[in-house]
Amino acid sequence: MRKRVLVTGGAGFIGSHLCKRLLEEGYEVICLDNMFTGQKENVLPLMKDPHFEFLRKDVLEDIHVECDQIYNLACPASPIHYQYDPIKTIKTSFIGSLHALGLAKRCHARILQASTSEVYGDPEIHPQPESYWGHVNTIGIRSCYDEGKRAAETLFFDYNRQHNVDIKVVRIFNTYGPNMRGDDGRVVSNFIVQALKGEDITIYGDGSQTRSFCYVDDLVEGLIRMMNSRDGFTGPVNLGNPSEFTMLELAQKVIELTGTNSKIVYLPLPQDDPTQRKPVIDLAEKELNWKPTIPLEEGLLKTIDYFRSTLEL
Ligand code: NAD
Ligand code: UDP
Repeated sequence: MRKRVLVTGGAGFIGSHLCKRLLEEGYEVICLDNMFTGQKENVLPLMKDPHFEFLRKDVLEDIHVECDQIYNLACPASPIHYQYDPIKTIKTSFIGSLHALGLAKRCHARILQASTSEVYGDPEIHPQPESYWGHVNTIGIRSCYDEGKRAAETLFFDYNRQHNVDIKVVRIFNTYGPNMRGDDGRVVSNFIVQALKGEDITIYGDGSQTRSFCYVDDLVEGLIRMMNSRDGFTGPVNLGNPSEFTMLELAQKVIELTGTNSKIVYLPLPQDDPTQRKPVIDLAEKELNWKPTIPLEEGLLKTIDYFRSTLEL
């Protein structure tokens, strides 16, 4: 019989790629999403598949389904969206995880938490290994997301210790690709949309801050490998691409690949914006035999194609 998998946040950017991959691999997929940042277009192509089911629901409500595996992705991920209703964001992270863990306990399902590199905050150690405890402001504008995700990790490990729930925790670093929203506000989608529309490319700060960008197909491969990793390996494990770029380098790459006439403009840096971020992925390489395969330029070209075909220019 097909294994039944619940993906919370399955209509979002990463979730929709994950649902598609799981269907291709022969799973029965239940996608649960409240459509806050999810897009119908992301899941419409999957609706034709008899093994796919969509539930419009909020993870703040109890979840009642039967399943063998749970990927817990529900949570807005871009700063403009998670700061829109910060109280709801921290509730989604914590109470959503509580409900998903309760379901895992009842169904004896294995459950994977989509945690984040944001648990490292504005890191004082570079690059970041899983053993680093982080440098996070508890009361800033990013805290609803960062602290929500940190508390969710705690809850996962307490459910594991107290109730023996079979947990897997991944810390995802900046991921990009098709199915991101054009109005998502994250840097890759912003720069590409601005370039394709011939608008100014908005660098926040002086553009010297760094990020390491992982193409979504690589990330989804890592998520599935982690879900199916050996018993007792809980993580947390970093998933991300260790190639590091400054935001100025990223802007220049997008300008080159789109052939746009857009000019770069510099805007103020948002509060608590991390200055650098790059994963150590030795643990993922050792335990999951995983490392990213798609270089930035190749991933950007695929993402540019996606926005070219979906934007009304
Ligand atoms: P996204 O915003 O595209 O997807 C999140 C999905 O969760 C959306 O479909 C949204 O509608 C849904 N959602 C939000 N609140 C909900 C609620 N209360 N109930 C039900 N559904 C809800 O973001 P994404 O980039 O696909 O991120 C997916 C997960 O991965 C998130 O948990 C995010 O924190 C994590 N993550 C992403 C990145 C990244 O770079 N994309 C990095 C680190 C961690
Ligand atoms: N950023 C930028 N211009 C934009 C959007 C973001 O320069 O139009 C910067 C942002 O300040 C941050 C980096 O790009 O330093 C990555 O931002 P994003 O919101 O994509 O992810 P996060 O900060 O959560 O890593």
